[in-house]
Amino acid sequence: MKKQTIRCPYCGSPAILKDASYIYGHHSSGGRVYVCSRFPACDSYVGVHQGTSLPKGSLANRTLRKKRIQAHQIFDQLWRKGIFSREEAYRWIGDKFCLQTRQAHIGNFSDYMCDQLIQEASKVLQNNLIPLGMAG
Ligand SMILES: [Zn+2]
Repeated sequence: MKKQTIRCPYCGSPAILKDASYIYGHHSSGGRVYVCSRFPACDSYVGVHQGTSLPKGSLANRTLRKKRIQAHQIFDQLWRKGIFSREEAYRWIGDKFCLQTRQAHIGNFSDYMCDQLIQEASKVLQNNLIPLGMAG
């Protein structure tokens, strides 16, 4: 099988598969990451699906990593609060961004798409009169 080179989207350098402790040190909870070969000069990496060498998305810098986490949190509210089923929620992303459901994966989202998703998901939550951050 041909190995696909994963490249850093910021500097174009090849990404290397490393133990997660390379990034997180003793805070690492195990697993592996793809990290830009210019790290830490280029602060760009992505986690790997447990037990595989498949990246969870594209490599992201600090800003984008934060944004993806934020986007995911607000998006998860949509199905956690029962506004959508989980499946419907992913279909909803697909419709918003003209993506196939299987591509509607926040791990691949750009800054811009994260912003859009945060905005759109907030609207849906507001329209359903559920205050943000409230449990249940
Ligand atoms: Zn890089």
